[in-house]
Amino acid sequence: YEAKESRSSVVVYKADMETAYLRRLTVEQRLRYGLATDALYMVYQPQVNQAGTIVGLEALVRWQDEELGSVSPSEFVDVAEKSGLMIPLGAFVLDTSLKEFRELSAALNTPLDLAINISVIQFCQPGFVDAVLAALRKHDVPPPVLVLEITETLFMGNFERALKTICDLRKHGIRLAMDDFGTGYSSLSLLRQLPLDELKIDKSFIDGLVDDERAANMVRSIVAIAESHNMSLIAEGVEEQKQVDALTTMGCGRFQGYFFSRPLPMADLKKQLIGSARQPDAPATIRRS
Ligand code: C2E
Ligand code: MG
Ligand code: MG
Ligand code: MG
Repeated sequence: YEAKESRSSVVVYKADMETAYLRRLTVEQRLRYGLATDALYMVYQPQVNQAGTIVGLEALVRWQDEELGSVSPSEFVDVAEKSGLMIPLGAFVLDTSLKEFRELSAALNTPLDLAINISVIQFCQPGFVDAVLAALRKHDVPPPVLVLEITETLFMGNFERALKTICDLRKHGIRLAMDDFGTGYSSLSLLRQLPLDELKIDKSFIDGLVDDERAANMVRSIVAIAESHNMSLIAEGVEEQKQVDALTTMGCGRFQGYFFSRPLPMADLKKQLIGSARQPDAPATIRRS
């Protein structure tokens, strides 16, 4: 390490870049293999209302590789987006989530929403809307159940095109949510031009909610934006009762986070939900983990 310290910082930086580059190549190679060999699977995180009743699920992809171990979706989704693997990965996510969701909803008497994250690469692919509609038909899931989560990066590309896709999806009753809201690039004027159904308040604001007045003010502003644009709201990354209380006071009544439940494989979720709704017509509630 002495030798390394005596090197110029440029050299060290270059070494870091090489390491990052090699990691990316390995992840890409292993992901290609993983997609072909069923190494990916989905987990689902409950979304709840003020009564703790589950009202929806967010599908989140997972990957357990033989050599790399478990790789975070933040890392491999990024690699997929840069390597042409996002299209097969996105197709896997859509098909698997709808299939597993259909099996769950057949066993429940509570209607639930299903939220699926969509990469900008998928969203801008010609034929995306038809592919979504075909997947819904294949698994017999009605379009109004589906919420597609997009991020603000979508509008850094072709805004008109993105807008048209959003309108096409909504014409079929599919809803759109803006994920990680408040962290990205979207301005208020941009939001005014967009027919979106839901804002997801980013975890970074929820983290600071109780102690940081600026985070709390940001959440108040987001609540006001949602109200004035007729959008529904959900807070993500809720970890404490105090945050639930503060959000409720501020006017956000839907939550997602470890306080209610971690993301779970469908089989586990099914057991928990069917167990909690044993009385006929009782809504499924989430046991806090
Ligand atoms: P996201 O869509 O904003 O998902 C929320 C992330 O926060 C998830 O991380 C979730 O596990 C985590 N989370 C939820 N509640 C809590 C909490 O209370 N505390 C903490 N610390 N974390 C919480 P995950 O699953 O690692 O996903 C990271 C990101 O990767 C996602 O952020 C999304 O952008 C992307 N991603 C995940 N699955 C998919 C997918 O199927 N397709 C696409 N395109 N992107 C995905
Ligand atoms: Mg999301
Ligand atoms: Mg998010
Ligand atoms: Mg995120």
